[in-house]
Amino acid sequence: MIDVRTKILGLVGYPVEHSLSPLLHNQAIKRLNLNYVYLPLPIKPENLREGIEGIRALGVLGVNVTIPYKEKVIPFLDELDSLANKIGAVNTIKNNNGILKGYNTDVSGFARMVEKDGGCKIKGKKAMVIGAGGASKAVITALCSKGIKELYLLNRNEEKGKNLIEIYKSKFPDVYFIAGGIRPEFYFSLVKKIDLLVDTTPVGMAPKENVDPVIIPEALHSNLLVIDLVYNPGETTLIKAAKKRGAKTLNGLGMLIYQGSESFQIWTGYTPEISHWKKIIKIK
Ligand code: NAP
Repeated sequence: MIDVRTKILGLVGYPVEHSLSPLLHNQAIKRLNLNYVYLPLPIKPENLREGIEGIRALGVLGVNVTIPYKEKVIPFLDELDSLANKIGAVNTIKNNNGILKGYNTDVSGFARMVEKDGGCKIKGKKAMVIGAGGASKAVITALCSKGIKELYLLNRNEEKGKNLIEIYKSKFPDVYFIAGGIRPEFYFSLVKKIDLLVDTTPVGMAPKENVDPVIIPEALHSNLLVIDLVYNPGETTLIKAAKKRGAKTLNGLGMLIYQGSESFQIWTGYTPEISHWKKIIKIK
C-alpha cells in the first residue's frame, strides 16, 4: 500500500509506453514486500533538464533511463560510476540524498543474455553490431570486455559509427574493428564471416513494427545468433527473417531482465527473482 514512506522509482524516456519495466519492477516490489513504487515518467525532449532536476526536487530514489536519453542525461548528473563514465551512456540513476549518480547495467545485462540465454561464449567470436547510440556502446563494451575477436560496426550515420570505433580501438587493442554504413555492398560478405549479429537500432519497434529489417534477409545464414534489442514486438521483422534462414535468435527481453535486476539491486539492495520475471513475460 502506498503511504508517506513509499519510495519512488521510475522510468525516464520518451516515449515510455512500450516498456515492460514498470510491470517487472512493481511485481518484484510486491514479491519482496517492499514499500516502493515504480512509475513511468515520460519527459519531453524540451523538458529533459527540468525533468532530471525533478528527480532531485521530488526525492525520487532512482530511475531507469531509456531511449532517447541514455547519453543526453549525462550533463545533468553529479557523478558517474566508472563503467558509465567509460562508455558515456547511463541507463540507471540513483539519487543519494540529492546527489544524482549514473550507472550502466546494460553492459552486464547484454553479456549475461548472450552467454546464458543464447548459449554463446563471446570469447574468440566475430560479431556485427548495427547502430551507434547508447545501447550500441553497451553492447560493444560487453563484447570487447568478454574477448570478442573481430567486431564490425554498421551505422546509418557512417561518420558517427567510424568515430565511435576509433574510441574503442584504443581501449581494446586486441580486437580487430571495421566500421561502415548500412549498405549491402559493405556488409553482405562480412555477415558471412560472423557468429553474432546484434541490431541495436529501434527499427521494427512498436508502433512501427511493419518495416523492412535493417539489413537485407538474403545476407542472413544458419550459423548466426541474431539478437534484436527490441522486445516489443517479441518478433521483429529481423528476427522473423533470421528464423526463416535457420539462425538462432534472441529478442531484447533477456537483456531487459538482467539489466533491470542489477538496477533494482543498486536502488534497493534487494535482488529480484529472475525466474519470476521470466515467467511474467513468458520466456524460458
Ligand atoms: P539511441 O541512442 O537513440 O541510438 C539509436 C541508434 O539507432 C543510432 O545509431 C541511430 O543511427 C540508429 N537508428 C535509428 N533509427 C534508424 C533507422 N531508421 N535506420 C537505421 N538506423 C537507425 O537509442 P538507444 O538507447 O541506443 O536504443 C536503441 C534501441 O535499443 C531501442 O529500441 C531500445 O528500446 C533498445 N534497447 C533495448 C534494451 C533491452 O534491455 N532490451 C536496452 C537498451 C536499448 P544514427 O546514428 O544514424 O542516428
